[in-house]
Amino acid sequence: MALLGRDKVAAAMRAIEAELAGGPRAELALDVLQLADLLRRRAERLLPKEEPERELLAAFPDAAGILAVTGAVRVANTALDGLAPGGRAVGRTPLEITRSEELAEAARRALQGHTKRLELELPPGPRPHVATLTPLLRGEVLLLLRDVTEARRAEQARRDFVANASHELRTPVAAIHGAAETLLLGALQDPQAARQFAEMIARQAERLARLTRDLLDLSRIESGQWTMQLGPVEVEGALRAAGDAVALPAREKGVELRRQEAGGLRVVADTRALEHVLVNLLDNAVKYTPQGGTVTLSGAAEGDRVVLSVADTGPGIERQHLVRLFERFYRADPGRSREQGGTGIGLSLVKHLVQAQKGEVGVESGPQGSRFWVRLPAAP
Ligand code: ADP
Repeated sequence: MALLGRDKVAAAMRAIEAELAGGPRAELALDVLQLADLLRRRAERLLPKEEPERELLAAFPDAAGILAVTGAVRVANTALDGLAPGGRAVGRTPLEITRSEELAEAARRALQGHTKRLELELPPGPRPHVATLTPLLRGEVLLLLRDVTEARRAEQARRDFVANASHELRTPVAAIHGAAETLLLGALQDPQAARQFAEMIARQAERLARLTRDLLDLSRIESGQWTMQLGPVEVEGALRAAGDAVALPAREKGVELRRQEAGGLRVVADTRALEHVLVNLLDNAVKYTPQGGTVTLSGAAEGDRVVLSVADTGPGIERQHLVRLFERFYRADPGRSREQGGTGIGLSLVKHLVQAQKGEVGVESGPQGSRFWVRLPAAP
């Protein structure tokens, strides 16, 4: 007992006895705690206790470990080892593992019996984590570190989506509101003005309807409610059906619609989803191609895949927009899109639907026009 004086041991024993008898938590000197830890570890050697603990920690999806009364990790799972320098957490303190003073302080408080929860950023990244420290029996602490990067990203995406959707909805609603008020305030008496405002209401209501329909489609796809029924589909028939759907607007606008023969080609797809994809691409091509232009629909075999294309002689899309074009609400030319009644959602729907059919979608564009393509598995 050179280091630990007799008095200290006696005082510690009295304090623990008092605690066990229902008194306040015993305040123990660090060397007493260390001795206790060593004795416990020696005793533990005789009982294979860490195995079940390790098994339990391995079942946690988060980085998890048990802090001994000394403040160092006694047992860790692989995820916690992964955070520690050198890939080994046992024997290290939370400070040594994470370099976070905040976590070190929380661990100290938890070892005194207080449950702690805090957020911290951990490398690499840094990535946001939620740390939970729960005091266990015998003065030890369970440390859990949950990586919340994905959850935070999803929350942000949801917030952006709601903000964007409300913004999109507000414009037509405000226009309808304004036109209706103008009518009521007297424009009704002037037949020509009345007609103009009624037309404006009809146009904006149509835009609202398109927007809500696209939003509903998007949410059905994203929530997995739109289940794909994949089977062999004749390319020729799919191209014809999609072409028919936009024939009228194309004629009205003076855009020529051409369809190249795709004789005998078949893809594995969902008939309805494929038509949706092609109609969306054709609709854009007609919308953005000026009068006198041409939109060409074609299909071609490419190994065990089939590539369907919608090419136009429109203004093309500047290179810097191409990578983001398939994001929802992304517009290369916001003014033109709105003027054409665009919702900014069409291409993100296309991407989701193509991916759900195990395909890929892409675009090439230049001053001569744009070519959107969809690559799908060929049907055997
Ligand atoms: P929108 O409803 O605005 O057309 P989309 O998601 O369908 O939304 O398309 C996103 C953006 O991509 C459009 O706003 C437009 O800027 C651009 N775009 C799509 N197709 C074409 C095309 N064929 N020619 C030129 N630009 C296009």
